[in-house]
Order: sequence, then C-alpha cells, then structure tokens
Amino acid sequence: MPELNIPNKILKWYDNNKRNLPWRKKTSTKNREYFTLVSEFMLQQTQVKTVIPYFESFIKNFPNLKSLAKANEQRVLKNWEGLGYYSRARNLKKTAIKLLEEFNGSLPKDLEKLKSLPGIGEYTSRSILAIAHNQPYIPMDGNVERILKRIFLLKTKNEISKENLTKKKSFFNTSKRSSDYAQAIMEIGALVCKPILPSCNFCPLIQNCKAYKNKNFLIQSKNKINKIKYFEANVYKHKNKYLLIKNKKFNFLKNLVIFPMNEINKEKFKLSINKKINVKMSNMNMKIIINKNNKKKIIKDSLLLDESNLNKYILPSFTKKIFNTLSHL
Ligand code: SF4
Repeated sequence: MPELNIPNKILKWYDNNKRNLPWRKKTSTKNREYFTLVSEFMLQQTQVKTVIPYFESFIKNFPNLKSLAKANEQRVLKNWEGLGYYSRARNLKKTAIKLLEEFNGSLPKDLEKLKSLPGIGEYTSRSILAIAHNQPYIPMDGNVERILKRIFLLKTKNEISKENLTKKKSFFNTSKRSSDYAQAIMEIGALVCKPILPSCNFCPLIQNCKAYKNKNFLIQSKNKINKIKYFEANVYKHKNKYLLIKNKKFNFLKNLVIFPMNEINKEKFKLSINKKINVKMSNMNMKIIINKNNKKKIIKDSLLLDESNLNKYILPSFTKKIFNTLSHL
C-alpha cells in the first residue's frame, strides 16, 4: 500500500466516523482557538467522556477568553470541581490573562511562544498548533503510540522508545487538513485501535498493520513506576465541624483543602487497626489510614467546614473520597 494513501484513508474514515464533540463545533476562528485551549487543558489527564459535560458548562459560564481572564479564581475552580488536577484550572486562567495582555487575545502560532504559557508543555503546544492552527503536527498521545506499536509490531525496549516511535510517526505522512488529521489519528486510537480488543474490521489501516497480520495485539508499555506511599489522615470533628487545612506541605494537591496528613512508614500503616483506603495519584499509589478524633483541635490557618454544608466548598476529589469513607464508618 503506497504511503501516500495513508492520510486519505484515515481522513475518509474520520469523516464518516468522528464523534460529535462539543469542542469540534464549527465556529469562528476566535472561538475555535478558545474551545481548543479549554478542551486541551481539560483533556490533560482526563478522558473525553468525563470532559464533555465539564467543557459544556465551563463554556456556558466562561464563553470567551475575556470572561475567563476576568473571573474570580474561586469561581473557575468551582467549575473545575470533580475534574481533579486543579493546577490546570489555575494555569488556564493565567494563560487567558497572558494571551490578552501579550498576544492580543490570540493563541500564538509558534511552538516556543506557546510553551511559554502557563500549563502548556510539549504535547499541548503541538495539539494546539495542529488543531487550532492547522499546522502539520501529530501530537504523540497514548492513542497514537498504540497505533504505531501495532502497525509496526513494536515490542522491545528500543522499539518502543520515544525516539523510535517519533521516527515511526513518519508513517502517517501529512495532510493539508492538519487539524482534522491529528484528531483523526487520535480518534482511531480511541474508537478502533482500543487497548483491549481492537476493532480491526473497522480500521482503515488494517492492510498496513503487522499486529493484525500476526494476531498479536498485546501492547508493551514503558514501565511507569507507581510508588507506594503511606499516609495517615487525621479527621478532627467537633460540634459538627470538620477541621481541614490548605495543603502547603505536599507537592501533590498543592494549595487545596485536605485533612491534616502525615506521611508514615509501612510498619505503622500495617499496625493500625483504623479504616484504610487506597487513592491513586498520577505517579503514586497512596495508602491512607483514616484516624477519627472527636476532639477539638487547633491548627493555625485551618478551616472549619460545617457538616451540613459540605457541598458549598470546593473540595478536591481526594478530600471528598475521605468524606465519603467517613459517611460509611
Ligand atoms: S488493524 Fe487493528 S490493531 Fe491494527 S491499527 Fe487497526 S485496529 Fe489497531
């Protein structure tokens, strides 16, 4: 199959099968840029299915760059509540301000300038250039990696290295419809070349695919080491009020409201007879003991949250998970 046919095959498939996602709506250039920016921030670390309702209500509440730049940070965080990784929301607001102050309210068309904006790194800058500015980039996300690993049946450590995958990306060639093309490749990964049970019979790349020919679909991943860490969360409840603090101590959940916590060793964790929960963070498995205390505790700069009014507060899902556990104790 001549390589030049690849973009045509992929785009034909995309035109017939793409999902109707709210950030893909046909709209003005300014709106397209804004929709791309918001959706790309939300899609960092979060799945499309989860992002859709958040994106829709976020755009309703902050319909353009100006409204986001001017908004009170707490209101922006409230609209982000439940999506997690709140630094994305803070950075998105900072980026909106910077775009208005330094870039005339437009997304720069240059990789380095984009990367100078808060919260925009290698991947997001390339996504923005491809999707919002129709530049010939194919950002390498998990979907694109998986397709390449299967097309070329890449298994060994060297074969699946970043350098080799970047080289192999030339398989896709380029298209004048760069924006659609980048999204089309990712869409094939999301809808057809799924991690488990790929739907090869619906795939436009079936004739090019070594994994299909060999009936070997297993994906080798670079071992992401998820460290196990142990903590105790101290729940102080006095007269129906919970004591919480703003996290300045740990690098995760920075500046967010959490129960007072300490890192402990495995031994202490094992010996405790209190309720234990597991929480997965991006690069860490947290094992947490919940210590309940019904006594008054005073901690400088702490917050007292009324039990009957908890939904009024912006709480990270991490803290909500502990509240949820408490309701079952
Ligand atoms: S043929 Fe199957 S394994 Fe190969 S790229 Fe398509 S969906 Fe993935």
